[in-house]
Amino acid sequence: MKSPFTEVADLLKEAGGEALANCYQCGTCSAACPWRDYTSFLPRRMFQEGRLGLTDFESGNLWRCVTCNKCVQRCPRGVPIIELMRALRRSVIRLGIAETPLALAGTLRNLSATGNPMGEEREKRNSWARDLNIKSFNEDTEYLFYPCCVTSFDPSMKNAALSTVKVLEAAGIDFGLLENVSCCGESARKSGDEELFKQLACNNIDLFRNSGVRKIIVNSPHCYHTLKNEYPELNGNFHVVHISQLIAGLIDQGQLILTKPMAGKITYHDPCYLGRHNGIYLEPRRILGSLKGVEFIEMKASLADSLCCGGGGGRIWMETPRSERFSEERLKQALASGANTLVTACPYCLSNFKDTALNQSLPEDFSILEISELVARAL
Ligand code: SF4
Ligand code: SF4
Repeated sequence: MKSPFTEVADLLKEAGGEALANCYQCGTCSAACPWRDYTSFLPRRMFQEGRLGLTDFESGNLWRCVTCNKCVQRCPRGVPIIELMRALRRSVIRLGIAETPLALAGTLRNLSATGNPMGEEREKRNSWARDLNIKSFNEDTEYLFYPCCVTSFDPSMKNAALSTVKVLEAAGIDFGLLENVSCCGESARKSGDEELFKQLACNNIDLFRNSGVRKIIVNSPHCYHTLKNEYPELNGNFHVVHISQLIAGLIDQGQLILTKPMAGKITYHDPCYLGRHNGIYLEPRRILGSLKGVEFIEMKASLADSLCCGGGGGRIWMETPRSERFSEERLKQALASGANTLVTACPYCLSNFKDTALNQSLPEDFSILEISELVARAL
């Protein structure tokens, strides 16, 4: 009988197929991985150990990958490293070899029970908008606005969703909200819980189809990636647009005019799932470039070299010790650029940066904003 570790090696081979055989252990992925400055977790070693059935699953290293895509972009042999990480996590869960980290396991339970990672009541999803007069989506509405769970349920993050509404209304966009939507399921899939991902995704796809949804505005790059690139696997085909793409287009067409002069120096953090995963680098910069009176500064490690905030791959729901937070380093890079405003276009990044900022002595005039918040101020 095979040991469970050998079974993992088999499952890994099955999931990676030819691609894993292509890995020639060059170590480029390990050199690109942001964890190289923090711990002993290195992707090359994990695959080598996984193939040999030697991985120490108790170390927790398997859950470190933030799916930032840096290694995938640099691998000379096209090894689908993130798919392999997911396959490893899936196998470990299936075979009961190691436990899902406690905090993440709680999030997955919440997703299963309530359709959102926080475990909030489903009926409260649109509470953030209760003082606004946003119409319910119907089949004659052009866009469904599908805000991320973080901006829907976390009171300290909801200003991002409120600002998006302000911007959409200023541009005269026809949009509405739906009740009973679920989380897009991204964290479940990246954590290895494929069944839960499918359950959440299928709930949404059925609801969207039955409601006549064709076009969807999202404010999270994670929702963007999942709805645009992964829902089609389940026959969910919708036109998905990230708010930064929509705003940039509206400015270009003269449908959104940013009239209020602003002051200060702004830098932009490229979220992994907008930039490296989907190639959306220019639109947010076009928006920032159209603000009157501000100076835009690129920080160290921008565009495809951007440093992950640490929130992808389900890690936004896990405890990360201060000494291992990429967001601390990223805030240092933002400060070193000379900017007094750090802008991002992702609720996970926003949440991570704000949380990390609580433990840092940042200058009093330093602010961290989601891109819609900044645009709403310029209207
Ligand atoms: S960069 Fe690609 S080929 Fe090189 S060790 Fe990593 S996975 Fe293997
Ligand atoms: S996706 Fe990012 S965190 Fe994961 S192994 Fe690759 S470089 Fe490291």
